Amino acid sequence: MQQNQNLTVVVTGASSGVGLYAAKALIQRGWQVVMACRDLEKAKQAAQSLGMSPDRYTLMHIDLGSLESVRQFVKTFRESGKSLDALVCNAAVYLPLLKEPLRSPEGYELSVATNHLGHFLLCNLLLDDLKHSASDSARLIILGTVTANSKELGGKIPIPAPADLGNLEGFEAGFKAPISMIDGKPFKAGKAYKDSKLCNMITSRELHRRYHDSTGIVFNTLYPGCVADTPLFRNSYPLFQKIFPWFQKNITGGYVSQELAGERVAQVVADPQFKQSGVHWSWGNRQKEGRESFVQELSEKASDDRLAQRMWDLSEKLVAVK
Ligand code: NAP
Repeated sequence: MQQNQNLTVVVTGASSGVGLYAAKALIQRGWQVVMACRDLEKAKQAAQSLGMSPDRYTLMHIDLGSLESVRQFVKTFRESGKSLDALVCNAAVYLPLLKEPLRSPEGYELSVATNHLGHFLLCNLLLDDLKHSASDSARLIILGTVTANSKELGGKIPIPAPADLGNLEGFEAGFKAPISMIDGKPFKAGKAYKDSKLCNMITSRELHRRYHDSTGIVFNTLYPGCVADTPLFRNSYPLFQKIFPWFQKNITGGYVSQELAGERVAQVVADPQFKQSGVHWSWGNRQKEGRESFVQELSEKASDDRLAQRMWDLSEKLVAVK
């Protein structure tokens, strides 16, 4: 399946789950992969365990929870002299059992800091590098999710609450203690994750609106399916970790293997049929054999241009980028 011998992709959080398998699938398509990870030894062992050839990938350190680390990553990446043809914002933390928020070095609630603010800064800094890609279809892909899209059943589940940024009151007030939620309301750990993923989908739409016409870069999100057995759920109740994959396999039919999820990410990054920009790709929530991709409509909250511009402006302030 070798197609793109000289193209380079950065994949964040490639040390496990969807990101690891996406890296493998992109290598199989002939890409060079920069595995942008916070634990390089773990990433190296994960790559070896899948038989990924060491001359096809480079390990580079990034802690997306730290804005300084994101800036250092971009510096190291540029010093490497590599071109950038695609960026995959995949890393995430899900900390549903926290009663009190954890904080990033800058003092921001950790799941929004990692999943949204770190990636928001990374996207802004690497935009210039993507502009210089020799590829006729440079792409910036962010992982979205069903639970942050109230157009779908999974996004309506009120446990602990659906994704909702309110009027961004928490961001407006600086997003530091005692503030822990984007809407400024009391801390709900599971909702903080959903809110961060809603920000991911809004960021992608706003990138498309601002930069697609002038740069030709393709900006998309995707939902790869319910990959119920990745380490994303490691901070959930142990019983949930046992039951959830079984439930998704046998009851909802929503279960997708890590390998298939990684393959879907690779398709959206590399394949010609995913050249359309400004959309959210999905394969639905019932996984039948040979399921085709389609453009999934997003919720009003994710499609509200006024909210998106305000979220963008406030995020710029929080990460100090202009
Ligand atoms: P995962 O196996 O836990 O992978 C998450 C990755 O993010 C790991 O490599 C992790 O690194 C990395 N990471 C976490 N915090 C980081 C930080 N501060 N700096 C750098 N890297 C960090 O989870 P996954 O299920 O593959 O999730 C990948 C993406 O898919 C996420 O964006 C998630 O929202 C999305 N998604 C997942 C599902 C699903 O059902 N699993 C469904 C829809 C969307 P360590 O190995 O060091 O922890």
